Amino acid sequence: MKFEADSRQWLAQGYNPLELEQNVRDFWQKSRTAEKLEQMRLKTNKGVLGYVEGPPTLNGYPHVGHVRGRVMKDLRYRWKAMQGFYSPFWAGWDCQGLPVELEVERELGVKNKKDLLERVGEERFVAECKKTIQKYYEAWRQADFKAGVLINDSKAYWTYLDAYIEREWRYLNRAWDQGLLGEGYYVVAYCPHCQTSLSNAEVGMGYEEVEDPSLYFKFKLEKEKTAYFLVWTTMPFTLVTDLMLAVHPEAEYAKVKVKDETWIIARQRVAPTMQELGLEDYEIAETVLGAELEGLRYEYPFLDVVPKQKELDRQSTVHTVVCESFVDVTAATGVVHLAPGNGEEDFIASQKRSVPVYAPFDDEVNFSKDAGMFAGLFARDADGVVVEELRKRGLLVSVKRISHEYPTCWRSHHKLVWFARREYYLWTNKINSRIVEAAEQVQYYFEPPKNRFLAFLREGKPWCFSRERVWGTPLPIWKCRKCESKVLVSSRKELLEKALEPPEGHFELHKPWIDRIKLKCEKCGGVMHREPFVLDTWHNSGASPYARFTDEEFERYVPVDFLVEAIDQTRGWANTLLLEHVILTEKAESPFKAFLFYGHALDEKGRKMSKSLGNFIDANEVLGKCSADLFRFYILWKCSPIDSMNFDVKELNKRPYQILSTLYHLYRFFIQNAEYDGFDPQKHTFDWAKENSLLRQTDRWLLSKLQATIKLVTETLESCEFNVALSELELFVVDFLSRQYVPMVRHELWSDEEETQNRRLSIYATLWQTLKTLDTLFNPITPFLCEAMYQQVHRALDKTLLDSVNFEEWPSPDEELLDSQLEQDFDTFLKYVSLTYSARQTAKLKRRWPLKKAIVIGPKNAQETVKMLEGLFLELANVKTVEYADSPAEISSETGGKGSLVSENDLHVLVDVQRDRSLQGEGVMRDLARRVQALRKELGFMPTEILEAVDLAELDDENTKLLKPHLKAMAELVRTKDVHVQESRSKAGKKWYEVNLDSKKVYIAIH
Ligand SMILES: [Zn+2]
Ligand SMILES: [Zn+2]
Repeated sequence: MKFEADSRQWLAQGYNPLELEQNVRDFWQKSRTAEKLEQMRLKTNKGVLGYVEGPPTLNGYPHVGHVRGRVMKDLRYRWKAMQGFYSPFWAGWDCQGLPVELEVERELGVKNKKDLLERVGEERFVAECKKTIQKYYEAWRQADFKAGVLINDSKAYWTYLDAYIEREWRYLNRAWDQGLLGEGYYVVAYCPHCQTSLSNAEVGMGYEEVEDPSLYFKFKLEKEKTAYFLVWTTMPFTLVTDLMLAVHPEAEYAKVKVKDETWIIARQRVAPTMQELGLEDYEIAETVLGAELEGLRYEYPFLDVVPKQKELDRQSTVHTVVCESFVDVTAATGVVHLAPGNGEEDFIASQKRSVPVYAPFDDEVNFSKDAGMFAGLFARDADGVVVEELRKRGLLVSVKRISHEYPTCWRSHHKLVWFARREYYLWTNKINSRIVEAAEQVQYYFEPPKNRFLAFLREGKPWCFSRERVWGTPLPIWKCRKCESKVLVSSRKELLEKALEPPEGHFELHKPWIDRIKLKCEKCGGVMHREPFVLDTWHNSGASPYARFTDEEFERYVPVDFLVEAIDQTRGWANTLLLEHVILTEKAESPFKAFLFYGHALDEKGRKMSKSLGNFIDANEVLGKCSADLFRFYILWKCSPIDSMNFDVKELNKRPYQILSTLYHLYRFFIQNAEYDGFDPQKHTFDWAKENSLLRQTDRWLLSKLQATIKLVTETLESCEFNVALSELELFVVDFLSRQYVPMVRHELWSDEEETQNRRLSIYATLWQTLKTLDTLFNPITPFLCEAMYQQVHRALDKTLLDSVNFEEWPSPDEELLDSQLEQDFDTFLKYVSLTYSARQTAKLKRRWPLKKAIVIGPKNAQETVKMLEGLFLELANVKTVEYADSPAEISSETGGKGSLVSENDLHVLVDVQRDRSLQGEGVMRDLARRVQALRKELGFMPTEILEAVDLAELDDENTKLLKPHLKAMAELVRTKDVHVQESRSKAGKKWYEVNLDSKKVYIAIH
């Protein structure tokens, strides 16, 4: 195996994450790292953090948006494990319900439910559903594996298994006992395609822009010749089930003269309505209060073609004007027609007045025979017929088409229809205050999703949770055919004991098998049949805190510590988890203490990802081609978790790559040098360096910065500001460590003198401490790179370390190492260094060309910081001497004239731009040395390796003369025994490399 602690093959010159990650995956698998981590934390921990998996629905392939959430879960798990907590990070799969059924219907080419039942049959359909979830399960597992998600799948729950269903029934049992579960006639949202009702939560998931008729029509007042109510609707078919008109009791209504008719409209809607209808010639004759209109009867226009309506019309409450405060007088005409069979508010209004329910529809939302001439028509297809009938009767005022936002089925995208049906409900409205109270105690991290969630909960509508489908948890209620009494069964065992006849052959808690079980009525001895419903699939996942655990585990892990799911789960899983838990426990308690809702992943242009747009990014495809670490880093770093994220795969290889590559090369730099000097982390410890007074301000500065970074990263991970945590890490690696610290110590590491060896070892001790800390801080984010570095660098040097970086402890800041004064001093010092660079740039002088002098100008305390680190300043600024001044005015005009001055606020630097021949020669030497260094690297020489010789050829006369006095220094700089300057390229088997020196060609050979 490649991945051996003492093998360095993997530490290639370039950062090649794909290969590295494959090695790490193999390593984790082979050494069973995930299992060991779980066992270790189970045995010894400083606390238990409950977790229950938000189960992905196995009806499709995972896309990048899904992985975004899974990476956040994994981050939290790895991080908390490092902090010493045990968490049952166990998988779970949502297997039943409409989403899966529709996917299978699509695969089988099923047109509608009738086709399904007749052509396919329930038994085969269930078998196909199981096959489908298995197929998608494989894809999800693969994506987890590729992304490095450590979730334990051997402990996964599957919502379709009997054991899970039995425990899910426990919630129903509790609801039944509390009188919160029952049957009712109610207006529900219904999808004509899926042929099932939808919950309120589901309705909110799919609004789309659709076209509908915009219809103005008149209802004539009874006993009046020319007086009409003017009404507007976008659903003409609901005129078939019209039973009342509603006005607002406190609003003013106008009687408007239009030609020889009188129209009644809300006063404030007269002008806009007339304008909409293009009528200029009208006049308000009188105004009345809405309340005064109450009780007026109007002529229902279709009495002749809908016999049932004629029958209903005999009742005094039918076809009258009622007052309702929900009537909106700021829209349309302020007069609303009520069809209790087709509208929720209409239905409630009719219940208050004992108006009968009239809902003449079959399961496909076709009008039934009770709808007279409309019988057999699909509801929405009746729109046109209704308009025609109104026209014939002279009641049509205007009709056109409008497009507007309208709820559609979140799965099949068909327009929903509301109609009254017999359904089963969880009457969660009765315990709404308890539910809201429970929800208010949860931590949500960000305000907008919290407000959205609480507002939704406060609506407090009952949960219509019966579904007229096949593949779902069966509603365990049996009803007597004779006396209609009902019984709820709460376990498989109880069911089999009560069954009139035991099942033959295969039996599971699903349709069709469960429907074959009949019970005997205890009241009358009649036969009881199961109510034919299955449950809303959201009930399945909402039951997971109890259903996925044993009783003992439930006690230990619930309420769980932290959940993270996409923002749409405010109406989905977060909602049902909460409702069901309050039912189960009868307490105002949420099953989760904290819930992070994250934004959706959009495509690079900010469009929603969908199969139809073709911009759906399959997770396995991306993770097959891209580095998992880069992917993880990118999605956490790019924006706040709450924001929608425009995912652009091209961005992975930009900044995220630079950051991780910088970290990777810091490791290479460290190990190559440390090994050369015989660094032993057991011996050359940080304490050893401290005791021997080997640490310098540079080291202390870096270590102080490191402590501050630990603190900030820990805090921002805790507050779920992942992007902020990653920016801190980015700043530390790229700026503090790579751009500032390493250049400050590089020169010290360069020497191989015996007497400075201890100083070098103390730099390695500092780097060791820093890199090992970074390895743990990065581990929850980029676990592959961190494991590789842990194995190949840290464990290679220290055999006493643990088997995996995942077993390491999360660092806490060492207060003793925090030194804010030192950090401030360095800020000033580094500012001066950077000003010298600007001054050089202005004068077009390369940084590696040594200069004679720099003058540091500014307040005394600022000067002090440079004095304190003067040696370092000379080196970084690359000047021979430094002088100091309080203000630019102090500088003599002679000196100033030869210098380049750069300022920032009250800090200034002047560099002497004049170079004598010696400085020029050193500059040429440095230029050439740099090219030799690059070549060394390119040809794969270790930085520590001493070369036999370096040859230079075709350098011009002037540069040769300048260079000659500096050849010895150059040999030291590039680590070679000798440097030769030749006039021309000799043949003797040397390989010459062409380089440019101030746009002239020079040739180099090294060996
Ligand atoms: Zn549908
Ligand atoms: Zn009975």
